[in-house]
Amino acid sequence: MADRFTMQDPRHQFPAPPFPQQPQSPPGLVSEMRPAPDHGEKSYAGFGRLLGRKALITGGDSGIGRAAAIAYAREGADVAINYLPSEQSDAEEVLGYIEKAGTKGVALPGDVSDEKICQALIEDAVKQLSGLDILVINAARQQARKSVAEVSSEDFDRTLKTNLYALHWLAQAAVPHLPPGASIITTASIQAYEPSAHLLDYATTKAGIVAYTKALSTQLIEKGIRVNAVAPGPFWTVLQPSGGQFPEKVETFGQDSAFGRPGQPVELAPVYVLLASQEGSYITGEVFGVTGGKGIA
Ligand code: NAD
Ligand code: MG
Repeated sequence: MADRFTMQDPRHQFPAPPFPQQPQSPPGLVSEMRPAPDHGEKSYAGFGRLLGRKALITGGDSGIGRAAAIAYAREGADVAINYLPSEQSDAEEVLGYIEKAGTKGVALPGDVSDEKICQALIEDAVKQLSGLDILVINAARQQARKSVAEVSSEDFDRTLKTNLYALHWLAQAAVPHLPPGASIITTASIQAYEPSAHLLDYATTKAGIVAYTKALSTQLIEKGIRVNAVAPGPFWTVLQPSGGQFPEKVETFGQDSAFGRPGQPVELAPVYVLLASQEGSYITGEVFGVTGGKGIA
């Protein structure tokens, strides 16, 4: 494959459907995905944009969070990743990449749908990294349900706790530790703007993340802290075959984007780096759409 800096037609740069259905139970393991997603393991090149920074990334074991973790480490940051205990093997791969980049990697497993665990997570990250400059709130639960009747209270509760309450608990615990120049990045979705029929609870949280991020940004710029959201379209991550989409939808995932293919996590890495780095000094309260051509409005 041509490297990331060679000019080429982006529609043909990465795999396109059809894909195997490959169902897994949530949260799933990236190591079982076919084709393997590209998180920049071979291709991401850093330029010291985050030298000496300390970052915590929730859901940093796989997908978009893994791409951010690899990129941050190669840009010079120490990186703590949070994930669920069942994802230990995926997390260890990421920690290996961080160490290879020559910075410090910290493993912080724990379920963020619990307030106390969120508070402990921030405390542990601050302690083990000796501070915190970048907080990427990215972990999420997405489980497709055919009809409104099938979205149980338990579903609703777990999705809201994981995607929305955790955002608040983590931000609340982190703010006292964040210095001027720090950055909080949340992961919203095109689902905030174009909600799918089968993602009632999930889409609701993503719209909430957009509102919360904008509100928090106006508050925290008074401390010199920037807060932004990224709103991805279809990205090839384990969220999808582990119940985020129905299996037949996984086969054609990304086909209806302008590119005829899903995005790969590495294609989001530069956005997470920009928002975290001082190069993003005038960017706050924004939602960065990387939707595959659909746009956000
Ligand atoms: P992913 O499955 O690789 O990452 C999600 C991570 O969330 C998991 O790795 C897991 O560690 C974490 N997680 C889930 N429940 C948790 C819990 N209770 N406690 C702690 N961690 C938990 O999938 P991804 O696609 O990289 O997802 C990352 C973010 O991107 C999510 O916010 C997702 O909503 C968002 N997103 C993804 C897409 C896409 O097409 N893949 C599109 C739009 C938005
Ligand atoms: Mg994972």
